[in-house]
Amino acid sequence: MSQRKPQNITLLGGTGSIGGSTLDIVARHSDLYRLYAVSGYRRVHELAEICRQFEPVFAVVPDQDAADQLEAETADLNTTVLVGADALEEVAAAEPVDIVVAAIVGAAGLLPALAAVKAGKRILLANKEALVMSGQLFMDEVRRSGAELLPIDSEHNAIFQCLPAQGTCFDDDSLPASGVRQILLTASGGPFRGYNPDQLAGVTPEQAVAHPNWSMGQKISVDSASLMNKGLELIEACWLFSVKPEAIQVVVHPQSIIHSMVSYNDGSVIAQMGNPDMRTPIAYGLAWPDRIDAGVKPLDLFQVAQLDFEPADEVAFPCLALARQAFSLGGTAPAILNAANEVAVQAFLDERIGFEQIPELCRYALDCLPVEPAVSLDIILASDCKAREICQPYLEHLSMHRIK
Ligand code: NAD
Ligand code: MG
Repeated sequence: MSQRKPQNITLLGGTGSIGGSTLDIVARHSDLYRLYAVSGYRRVHELAEICRQFEPVFAVVPDQDAADQLEAETADLNTTVLVGADALEEVAAAEPVDIVVAAIVGAAGLLPALAAVKAGKRILLANKEALVMSGQLFMDEVRRSGAELLPIDSEHNAIFQCLPAQGTCFDDDSLPASGVRQILLTASGGPFRGYNPDQLAGVTPEQAVAHPNWSMGQKISVDSASLMNKGLELIEACWLFSVKPEAIQVVVHPQSIIHSMVSYNDGSVIAQMGNPDMRTPIAYGLAWPDRIDAGVKPLDLFQVAQLDFEPADEVAFPCLALARQAFSLGGTAPAILNAANEVAVQAFLDERIGFEQIPELCRYALDCLPVEPAVSLDIILASDCKAREICQPYLEHLSMHRIK
Protein backbone atom coordinates (compact mmCIF):
# COMPACT_ATOMS: atom_id res chain seq x y z
CA MET A 1 0.00 0.00 0.00
CA SER A 2 1.23 3.49 -0.82
CA GLN A 3 2.57 5.65 2.01
CA ARG A 4 -0.08 8.33 2.36
CA LYS A 5 -0.61 10.97 4.99
CA PRO A 6 -3.28 9.90 7.50
CA GLN A 7 -6.67 11.34 6.64
CA ASN A 8 -8.08 13.94 9.03
CA ILE A 9 -11.42 13.06 10.60
CA THR A 10 -13.95 15.31 12.26
CA LEU A 11 -16.18 13.20 14.45
CA LEU A 12 -19.47 14.92 15.30
CA GLY A 13 -20.98 13.10 18.27
CA GLY A 14 -17.81 11.42 19.53
CA THR A 15 -19.23 10.45 22.92
CA GLY A 16 -22.12 8.44 21.48
CA SER A 17 -22.52 4.86 20.36
CA ILE A 18 -21.51 5.51 16.72
CA GLY A 19 -18.78 7.82 18.02
CA GLY A 20 -17.29 4.99 20.11
CA SER A 21 -17.37 2.53 17.21
CA THR A 22 -15.65 5.09 14.96
CA LEU A 23 -12.92 5.75 17.51
CA ASP A 24 -12.31 2.02 17.83
CA ILE A 25 -11.51 1.85 14.10
CA VAL A 26 -9.41 5.00 14.15
CA ALA A 27 -7.36 3.49 17.00
CA ARG A 28 -6.81 0.32 14.95
CA HIS A 29 -5.60 2.30 11.92
CA SER A 30 -3.59 5.24 13.24
CA ASP A 31 -1.47 5.00 10.06
CA LEU A 32 -4.56 5.77 7.94
CA TYR A 33 -6.69 8.09 10.08
CA ARG A 34 -6.17 10.86 12.56
CA LEU A 35 -8.80 12.47 14.76
CA TYR A 36 -8.73 16.15 13.82
CA ALA A 37 -11.82 17.31 15.76
CA VAL A 38 -14.40 15.71 18.02
CA SER A 39 -17.59 16.92 19.66
CA GLY A 40 -19.54 15.90 22.73
CA TYR A 41 -22.62 17.28 24.41
CA ARG A 42 -23.21 16.19 27.98
CA ARG A 43 -20.56 13.58 28.80
CA VAL A 44 -17.65 15.96 29.18
CA HIS A 45 -15.49 13.57 31.17
CA GLU A 46 -15.80 10.94 28.39
CA LEU A 47 -14.87 13.62 25.89
CA ALA A 48 -11.77 14.44 27.95
CA GLU A 49 -10.80 10.74 27.87
CA ILE A 50 -11.17 10.76 24.08
CA CYS A 51 -8.95 13.85 23.88
CA ARG A 52 -6.37 12.13 26.06
CA GLN A 53 -6.26 9.06 23.83
CA PHE A 54 -6.42 10.77 20.40
CA GLU A 55 -5.21 14.33 21.02
CA PRO A 56 -7.39 16.01 18.39
CA VAL A 57 -6.65 19.58 17.32
CA PHE A 58 -10.14 20.68 18.41
CA ALA A 59 -12.83 19.48 20.81
CA VAL A 60 -16.28 21.07 20.69
CA VAL A 61 -18.69 21.39 23.62
CA PRO A 62 -22.11 23.10 23.84
CA ASP A 63 -21.48 25.80 26.49
CA GLN A 64 -18.92 27.60 28.62
CA ASP A 65 -19.44 25.36 31.70
CA ALA A 66 -18.60 22.31 29.64
CA ALA A 67 -15.64 24.15 28.11
CA ASP A 68 -14.28 25.05 31.57
CA GLN A 69 -14.53 21.44 32.69
CA LEU A 70 -12.94 20.08 29.51
CA GLU A 71 -10.13 22.66 29.60
CA ALA A 72 -9.39 21.76 33.22
CA GLU A 73 -9.26 18.05 32.39
CA THR A 74 -7.14 18.49 29.26
CA ALA A 75 -4.84 21.35 30.33
CA ASP A 76 -1.72 19.26 29.57
CA LEU A 77 -2.88 18.43 26.01
CA ASN A 78 -2.56 20.31 22.72
CA THR A 79 -6.31 20.23 22.11
CA THR A 80 -8.11 23.56 21.70
CA VAL A 81 -11.61 23.64 23.15
CA LEU A 82 -14.31 25.35 21.07
CA VAL A 83 -17.83 26.26 22.19
CA GLY A 84 -21.26 26.21 20.57
CA ALA A 85 -23.18 25.09 17.50
CA ASP A 86 -21.21 27.41 15.17
CA ALA A 87 -18.02 25.64 16.18
CA LEU A 88 -19.56 22.32 15.05
CA GLU A 89 -20.02 23.78 11.59
CA GLU A 90 -16.48 25.19 11.61
CA VAL A 91 -14.83 21.87 12.42
CA ALA A 92 -17.05 20.11 9.88
CA ALA A 93 -15.96 22.45 7.08
CA ALA A 94 -12.36 23.16 8.12
CA GLU A 95 -9.84 22.99 5.30
CA PRO A 96 -7.56 20.23 6.70
CA VAL A 97 -10.53 17.85 7.19
CA ASP A 98 -10.94 14.94 4.75
CA ILE A 99 -13.74 12.95 6.38
CA VAL A 100 -16.66 14.00 8.57
CA VAL A 101 -18.54 11.39 10.57
CA ALA A 102 -22.02 12.82 11.22
CA ALA A 103 -23.05 10.98 14.39
CA ILE A 104 -24.95 13.58 16.39
CA VAL A 105 -28.44 12.38 17.19
CA GLY A 106 -31.51 14.24 15.94
CA ALA A 107 -32.15 17.63 14.34
CA ALA A 108 -29.14 19.11 16.18
CA GLY A 109 -26.92 17.32 13.67
CA LEU A 110 -28.39 18.94 10.56
CA LEU A 111 -26.38 22.16 10.33
CA PRO A 112 -22.94 20.65 10.89
CA ALA A 113 -23.68 17.78 8.49
CA LEU A 114 -24.78 20.27 5.88
CA ALA A 115 -21.66 22.36 6.50
CA ALA A 116 -19.56 19.29 5.71
CA VAL A 117 -21.56 18.68 2.53
CA LYS A 118 -21.17 22.29 1.40
CA ALA A 119 -17.42 22.05 1.96
CA GLY A 120 -17.30 18.99 -0.32
CA LYS A 121 -16.01 16.52 2.28
CA ARG A 122 -16.43 12.77 2.43
CA ILE A 123 -19.39 12.46 4.81
CA LEU A 124 -20.18 9.27 6.68
CA LEU A 125 -23.83 9.83 7.51
CA ALA A 126 -25.25 8.18 10.62
CA ASN A 127 -27.48 11.13 11.51
CA LYS A 128 -30.50 10.06 9.41
CA GLU A 129 -32.65 12.80 10.94
CA ALA A 130 -30.62 15.40 8.99
CA LEU A 131 -31.56 13.80 5.68
CA VAL A 132 -35.18 13.19 6.73
CA MET A 133 -35.58 16.88 7.55
CA SER A 134 -33.88 18.42 4.56
CA GLY A 135 -33.71 15.63 1.92
CA GLN A 136 -33.98 17.64 -1.29
CA LEU A 137 -31.83 20.51 -0.09
CA PHE A 138 -29.21 18.17 1.35
CA MET A 139 -28.95 16.09 -1.83
CA ASP A 140 -28.89 19.20 -4.03
CA GLU A 141 -25.89 20.40 -2.02
CA VAL A 142 -24.18 17.01 -2.38
CA ARG A 143 -24.57 17.22 -6.16
CA ARG A 144 -23.42 20.85 -6.27
CA SER A 145 -20.36 20.46 -4.03
CA GLY A 146 -19.27 17.03 -5.20
CA ALA A 147 -19.18 15.77 -1.60
CA GLU A 148 -18.88 11.99 -1.16
CA LEU A 149 -21.94 10.89 0.80
CA LEU A 150 -21.47 7.42 2.26
CA PRO A 151 -24.31 6.00 4.34
CA ILE A 152 -23.27 4.23 7.52
CA ASP A 153 -26.74 3.43 8.76
CA SER A 154 -26.30 -0.34 8.49
CA GLU A 155 -29.22 -0.92 6.10
CA HIS A 156 -28.25 1.88 3.73
CA ASN A 157 -24.65 0.85 3.85
CA ALA A 158 -25.77 -2.67 2.92
CA ILE A 159 -27.87 -1.37 0.02
CA PHE A 160 -24.92 0.72 -1.15
CA GLN A 161 -22.73 -2.38 -1.06
CA CYS A 162 -25.32 -4.44 -3.01
CA LEU A 163 -25.58 -1.89 -5.82
CA PRO A 164 -23.17 -1.87 -8.74
CA ALA A 165 -20.24 0.49 -8.07
CA GLN A 166 -21.32 3.86 -9.42
CA GLY A 167 -19.85 6.50 -7.11
CA THR A 168 -21.68 7.97 -4.17
CA CYS A 169 -24.30 10.09 -5.91
CA PHE A 170 -27.43 8.66 -7.55
CA ASP A 171 -30.00 10.19 -9.87
CA ASP A 172 -33.54 9.06 -10.76
CA ASP A 173 -32.24 6.76 -13.51
CA SER A 174 -29.31 5.19 -11.64
CA LEU A 175 -31.11 2.24 -10.08
CA PRO A 176 -33.47 1.36 -12.95
CA ALA A 177 -30.51 1.63 -15.36
CA SER A 178 -28.66 -0.89 -13.20
CA GLY A 179 -31.59 -3.32 -13.43
CA VAL A 180 -32.70 -2.79 -9.85
CA ARG A 181 -36.28 -3.94 -9.28
CA GLN A 182 -36.64 -3.26 -5.59
CA ILE A 183 -34.78 -2.43 -2.42
CA LEU A 184 -35.47 -4.81 0.46
CA LEU A 185 -34.98 -2.79 3.64
CA THR A 186 -34.57 -5.14 6.57
CA ALA A 187 -35.81 -4.44 10.11
CA SER A 188 -35.17 -6.47 13.24
CA GLY A 189 -38.69 -5.73 14.48
CA GLY A 190 -37.21 -4.44 17.76
CA PRO A 191 -37.86 -5.69 21.28
CA PHE A 192 -41.67 -5.66 20.86
CA ARG A 193 -41.99 -7.69 17.68
CA GLY A 194 -45.20 -9.72 17.88
CA TYR A 195 -46.78 -7.50 20.57
CA ASN A 196 -50.40 -6.45 20.10
CA PRO A 197 -51.58 -2.87 20.83
CA ASP A 198 -52.68 -3.78 24.37
CA GLN A 199 -49.29 -5.23 25.19
CA LEU A 200 -47.54 -2.19 23.68
CA ALA A 201 -49.51 0.15 25.93
CA GLY A 202 -47.78 -1.29 28.99
CA VAL A 203 -44.13 -1.24 27.93
CA THR A 204 -41.49 0.71 29.86
CA PRO A 205 -38.53 2.81 28.65
CA GLU A 206 -36.15 0.16 30.04
CA GLN A 207 -37.80 -2.50 27.86
CA ALA A 208 -37.82 -0.19 24.84
CA VAL A 209 -34.11 0.62 24.96
CA ALA A 210 -33.10 -3.03 25.36
CA HIS A 211 -32.68 -3.86 21.67
CA PRO A 212 -32.29 -7.58 20.99
CA ASN A 213 -29.41 -7.30 18.47
CA TRP A 214 -27.83 -3.83 18.50
CA SER A 215 -26.34 -1.68 21.23
CA MET A 216 -27.28 1.93 20.38
CA GLY A 217 -28.14 5.34 21.84
CA GLN A 218 -31.48 5.77 23.65
CA LYS A 219 -33.32 7.72 20.95
CA ILE A 220 -32.63 5.32 18.08
CA SER A 221 -33.38 2.38 20.39
CA VAL A 222 -36.87 3.74 21.11
CA ASP A 223 -37.29 4.50 17.38
CA SER A 224 -36.37 0.89 16.61
CA ALA A 225 -38.95 -0.33 19.10
CA SER A 226 -41.73 1.84 17.59
CA LEU A 227 -40.62 1.16 13.96
CA MET A 228 -40.25 4.93 13.52
CA ASN A 229 -36.59 4.11 12.87
CA LYS A 230 -37.67 2.05 9.85
CA GLY A 231 -39.92 4.87 8.72
CA LEU A 232 -37.08 7.38 8.97
CA GLU A 233 -34.84 4.89 7.16
CA LEU A 234 -37.37 4.50 4.37
CA ILE A 235 -37.26 8.26 3.82
CA GLU A 236 -33.46 8.19 4.14
CA ALA A 237 -33.24 5.50 1.43
CA CYS A 238 -35.55 7.44 -0.91
CA TRP A 239 -33.22 10.44 -0.77
CA LEU A 240 -29.92 8.58 -0.76
CA PHE A 241 -30.71 6.35 -3.73
CA SER A 242 -33.17 8.62 -5.51
CA VAL A 243 -36.07 6.14 -5.46
CA LYS A 244 -39.78 6.27 -4.62
CA PRO A 245 -41.17 4.59 -1.47
CA GLU A 246 -42.98 2.05 -3.71
CA ALA A 247 -39.57 0.74 -4.75
CA ILE A 248 -38.76 -0.20 -1.15
CA GLN A 249 -40.15 -3.18 0.72
CA VAL A 250 -39.68 -3.42 4.48
CA VAL A 251 -38.76 -6.96 5.51
CA VAL A 252 -38.68 -7.93 9.17
CA HIS A 253 -35.68 -10.16 9.76
CA PRO A 254 -35.29 -10.75 13.49
CA GLN A 255 -31.70 -12.08 13.45
CA SER A 256 -30.22 -8.84 11.97
CA ILE A 257 -27.65 -10.82 9.98
CA ILE A 258 -28.78 -9.61 6.57
CA HIS A 259 -28.55 -5.81 6.76
CA SER A 260 -30.62 -5.22 3.59
CA MET A 261 -30.90 -6.49 0.02
CA VAL A 262 -31.29 -5.36 -3.56
CA SER A 263 -33.55 -7.27 -5.93
CA TYR A 264 -32.68 -7.15 -9.66
CA ASN A 265 -34.92 -7.68 -12.65
CA ASP A 266 -33.11 -10.86 -13.70
CA GLY A 267 -34.34 -12.50 -10.48
CA SER A 268 -31.13 -12.04 -8.49
CA VAL A 269 -31.31 -10.79 -4.94
CA ILE A 270 -28.03 -9.56 -3.47
CA ALA A 271 -27.74 -9.34 0.31
CA GLN A 272 -25.06 -7.91 2.56
CA MET A 273 -24.53 -9.99 5.68
CA GLY A 274 -22.47 -9.77 8.81
CA ASN A 275 -22.66 -9.76 12.57
CA PRO A 276 -24.64 -6.77 13.83
CA ASP A 277 -21.72 -4.46 14.61
CA MET A 278 -21.66 -0.83 13.42
CA ARG A 279 -17.90 -0.98 12.97
CA THR A 280 -18.50 -2.79 9.65
CA PRO A 281 -20.40 0.03 7.90
CA ILE A 282 -18.18 2.68 9.51
CA ALA A 283 -14.98 0.96 8.34
CA TYR A 284 -16.51 0.58 4.89
CA GLY A 285 -17.31 4.30 4.73
CA LEU A 286 -13.88 5.32 5.97
CA ALA A 287 -11.93 3.14 3.55
CA TRP A 288 -14.27 3.09 0.52
CA PRO A 289 -13.58 1.79 -2.09
CA ASP A 290 -10.94 -0.20 -0.15
CA ARG A 291 -11.63 -2.55 2.77
CA ILE A 292 -9.93 -2.44 6.15
CA ASP A 293 -10.06 -4.60 9.26
CA ALA A 294 -12.93 -3.42 11.48
CA GLY A 295 -12.26 -5.73 14.42
CA VAL A 296 -15.62 -7.42 13.79
CA LYS A 297 -16.05 -11.10 14.55
CA PRO A 298 -16.39 -13.05 11.28
CA LEU A 299 -19.87 -14.35 10.60
CA ASP A 300 -20.34 -18.00 11.57
CA LEU A 301 -23.28 -19.22 9.50
CA PHE A 302 -23.52 -22.51 11.37
CA GLN A 303 -23.94 -20.58 14.59
CA VAL A 304 -26.59 -18.35 12.97
CA ALA A 305 -28.25 -21.49 11.54
CA GLN A 306 -31.52 -19.82 10.59
CA LEU A 307 -32.66 -16.63 8.87
CA ASP A 308 -36.33 -15.65 9.22
CA PHE A 309 -38.40 -13.08 7.35
CA GLU A 310 -41.88 -11.66 7.91
CA PRO A 311 -43.87 -8.53 6.99
CA ALA A 312 -43.99 -5.59 9.39
CA ASP A 313 -47.11 -5.22 11.52
CA GLU A 314 -48.14 -1.74 10.47
CA VAL A 315 -51.33 -1.81 12.55
CA ALA A 316 -49.65 -2.34 15.90
CA PHE A 317 -46.75 -0.09 14.81
CA PRO A 318 -48.31 2.90 13.00
CA CYS A 319 -45.07 4.94 12.85
CA LEU A 320 -43.94 3.27 9.63
CA ALA A 321 -47.11 4.35 7.81
CA LEU A 322 -46.81 7.84 9.31
CA ALA A 323 -43.34 8.18 7.81
CA ARG A 324 -44.61 7.06 4.41
CA GLN A 325 -47.42 9.57 4.70
CA ALA A 326 -44.98 12.37 5.62
CA PHE A 327 -42.74 11.56 2.68
CA SER A 328 -45.65 11.57 0.24
CA LEU A 329 -46.91 14.87 1.67
CA GLY A 330 -43.44 16.17 0.88
CA GLY A 331 -42.06 19.62 1.70
CA THR A 332 -41.67 20.21 5.42
CA ALA A 333 -43.83 17.21 6.47
CA PRO A 334 -40.87 14.90 7.24
CA ALA A 335 -39.24 17.68 9.32
CA ILE A 336 -42.51 18.08 11.26
CA LEU A 337 -42.72 14.32 11.81
CA ASN A 338 -39.11 14.16 12.92
CA ALA A 339 -39.47 17.00 15.41
CA ALA A 340 -42.69 15.58 16.89
CA ASN A 341 -41.05 12.18 17.19
CA GLU A 342 -38.04 13.65 19.00
CA VAL A 343 -40.38 15.35 21.48
CA ALA A 344 -42.45 12.18 21.88
CA VAL A 345 -39.44 9.90 22.43
CA GLN A 346 -38.03 12.21 25.10
CA ALA A 347 -41.45 12.40 26.80
CA PHE A 348 -41.68 8.60 26.74
CA LEU A 349 -38.17 8.24 28.17
CA ASP A 350 -39.16 10.75 30.89
CA GLU A 351 -42.26 8.59 31.57
CA ARG A 352 -44.64 11.44 30.76
CA ILE A 353 -46.45 9.53 28.00
CA GLY A 354 -46.95 5.88 27.13
CA PHE A 355 -45.23 4.10 24.24
CA GLU A 356 -48.49 3.91 22.26
CA GLN A 357 -48.81 7.70 22.48
CA ILE A 358 -45.62 8.29 20.45
CA PRO A 359 -47.45 7.84 17.09
CA GLU A 360 -50.40 9.81 18.44
CA LEU A 361 -48.26 12.89 19.04
CA CYS A 362 -46.59 12.51 15.64
CA ARG A 363 -49.95 12.22 13.88
CA TYR A 364 -51.24 15.27 15.75
CA ALA A 365 -48.28 17.39 14.58
CA LEU A 366 -48.66 16.21 10.98
CA ASP A 367 -52.41 16.94 11.03
CA CYS A 368 -52.09 20.37 12.64
CA LEU A 369 -49.26 22.05 10.83
CA PRO A 370 -49.43 23.26 7.24
CA VAL A 371 -46.88 21.66 4.96
CA GLU A 372 -44.71 24.16 3.14
CA PRO A 373 -42.28 23.61 0.27
CA ALA A 374 -38.91 22.82 1.89
CA VAL A 375 -37.03 25.26 -0.30
CA SER A 376 -34.78 26.82 2.33
CA LEU A 377 -33.09 25.85 5.53
CA ASP A 378 -34.94 28.66 7.33
CA ILE A 379 -38.30 27.18 6.36
CA ILE A 380 -37.22 23.69 7.45
CA LEU A 381 -35.86 24.88 10.79
CA ALA A 382 -38.97 27.01 11.38
CA SER A 383 -41.17 23.92 10.81
CA ASP A 384 -39.03 21.97 13.24
CA CYS A 385 -39.53 24.73 15.83
CA LYS A 386 -43.28 25.04 15.25
CA ALA A 387 -43.76 21.30 15.54
CA ARG A 388 -41.93 21.24 18.88
CA GLU A 389 -44.08 24.14 20.10
CA ILE A 390 -47.48 22.71 19.15
CA CYS A 391 -46.50 19.36 20.66
CA GLN A 392 -46.15 20.83 24.15
CA PRO A 393 -49.84 21.46 25.01
CA TYR A 394 -50.84 18.18 23.35
CA LEU A 395 -48.21 16.39 25.43
CA GLU A 396 -49.91 17.72 28.58
CA HIS A 397 -53.22 16.42 27.24
CA LEU A 398 -51.76 12.99 26.41
CA SER A 399 -50.02 12.71 29.72
CA MET A 400 -53.32 13.42 31.56
CA HIS A 401 -55.16 10.80 29.50
CA ARG A 402 -52.50 8.17 29.79
CA ILE A 403 -53.51 4.58 30.50
CA LYS A 404 -51.16 3.56 33.32
P1 NAD B 1 -26.00 8.49 21.06
O1 NAD B 1 -27.13 9.05 21.87
O2 NAD B 1 -25.25 7.34 21.60
O3 NAD B 1 -24.96 9.66 20.74
C1 NAD B 1 -25.37 10.90 20.28
C2 NAD B 1 -24.21 11.87 20.15
O4 NAD B 1 -24.77 13.15 19.81
C3 NAD B 1 -23.43 12.08 21.46
O5 NAD B 1 -22.07 12.27 21.17
C4 NAD B 1 -24.03 13.37 22.04
O6 NAD B 1 -23.08 14.07 22.82
C5 NAD B 1 -24.35 14.14 20.78
N1 NAD B 1 -25.47 15.08 20.96
C6 NAD B 1 -26.68 14.82 21.53
N2 NAD B 1 -27.45 15.92 21.49
C7 NAD B 1 -26.72 16.91 20.91
C8 NAD B 1 -26.96 18.26 20.61
N3 NAD B 1 -28.13 18.86 20.90
N4 NAD B 1 -25.97 18.98 20.02
C9 NAD B 1 -24.79 18.42 19.73
N5 NAD B 1 -24.49 17.11 19.99
C10 NAD B 1 -25.45 16.37 20.58
O7 NAD B 1 -26.61 8.17 19.62
P2 NAD B 1 -26.09 7.07 18.56
O8 NAD B 1 -26.78 5.80 18.81
O9 NAD B 1 -24.62 7.11 18.46
O10 NAD B 1 -26.76 7.67 17.23
C11 NAD B 1 -26.22 8.80 16.57
C12 NAD B 1 -26.90 8.95 15.22
O11 NAD B 1 -26.57 7.82 14.43
C13 NAD B 1 -28.42 9.00 15.29
O12 NAD B 1 -28.90 9.86 14.31
C14 NAD B 1 -28.84 7.57 14.98
O13 NAD B 1 -30.10 7.49 14.37
C15 NAD B 1 -27.75 7.16 14.00
N6 NAD B 1 -27.50 5.72 13.95
C16 NAD B 1 -27.05 5.08 15.05
C17 NAD B 1 -26.83 3.69 15.01
C18 NAD B 1 -26.29 2.94 16.20
O14 NAD B 1 -26.02 1.75 16.10
N7 NAD B 1 -26.08 3.57 17.36
C19 NAD B 1 -27.10 3.00 13.84
C20 NAD B 1 -27.55 3.68 12.72
C21 NAD B 1 -27.75 5.05 12.79
MG1 MG C 1 -30.37 1.35 10.65
